[in-house]
Amino acid sequence: MPAALRIENLKKSYGAVPVLKGIDLSVEQGDVVAVIGRSGSGKSTMLRCINGLEHFESGSIEVVGHKVSASTAALRALRKEVGMVFQSYNLFPHLNVAENITLAPRVVKNLPRTEMAGLVHDVLSRVGLAEKAGAYPDELSGGQQQRVAIARSLAMKPKVMLFDEVTSALDPELTGEVLKTIAELAKAGMTMVLVTHEMGFARKVANRTVFMNEGRIWEEGPSEELFTNPRTPELRSFVAPNLK
Ligand code: ADP
Ligand code: MG
Repeated sequence: MPAALRIENLKKSYGAVPVLKGIDLSVEQGDVVAVIGRSGSGKSTMLRCINGLEHFESGSIEVVGHKVSASTAALRALRKEVGMVFQSYNLFPHLNVAENITLAPRVVKNLPRTEMAGLVHDVLSRVGLAEKAGAYPDELSGGQQQRVAIARSLAMKPKVMLFDEVTSALDPELTGEVLKTIAELAKAGMTMVLVTHEMGFARKVANRTVFMNEGRIWEEGPSEELFTNPRTPELRSFVAPNLK
């Protein structure tokens, strides 16, 4: 079985400013990896590189054995393996939930019409919204819309899911339902890398946590260990407010 994700010496700059300064990270299939760190430490940039959304100058990234490169064919292969969910869910307002979900599978995977209803039901069930196939985005709460965005991503049957602060735009009372959905996907064995501010969630759901600081992986390890016994002063001061 190839690693779900293997990053070696990844470096990226914006102009003259180095943002990723040599990232090494391996994620095995079934791993749930939380990525934590201060704003500006390079977390989103790393995810965007993994998903082929950003060019990087050096190093290599492999997703389930596919090398991430700028070629169209490589990107197409990559997009079938990796799903990404952002803070802003960006559902198409004029399409209902089922149409939002089937858009990419129809276009990219030539999904036959006969299989659409089954797919929609399957992915909506996994986010607890099986009854919402016919709803329009503006009829749903922010939390429900984000869960539809997760379902839309699942519809491509990705082997790795990337989540970038998917609850940051949500009111606290809606955050819980989205985190619960992600926790259930994790329990079902989905490989995921999730950038999150929710330290309690990272600690509970992720088997590993990575702390990024100044464009580097500063510290990483089993989540429980990392949170209870941070080794670097930077991580110690970062997690201190979250430890009781
Ligand atoms: P994080 O997600 O950890 O908050 P980012 O990966 O978004 O961090 O950003 C890392 C650094 O790269 C920051 O200093 C940010 O200002 C810079 N940066 C991010 N995106 C761009 C961009 N498109 N152009 C220039 N600089 C950027
Ligand atoms: Mg970010």
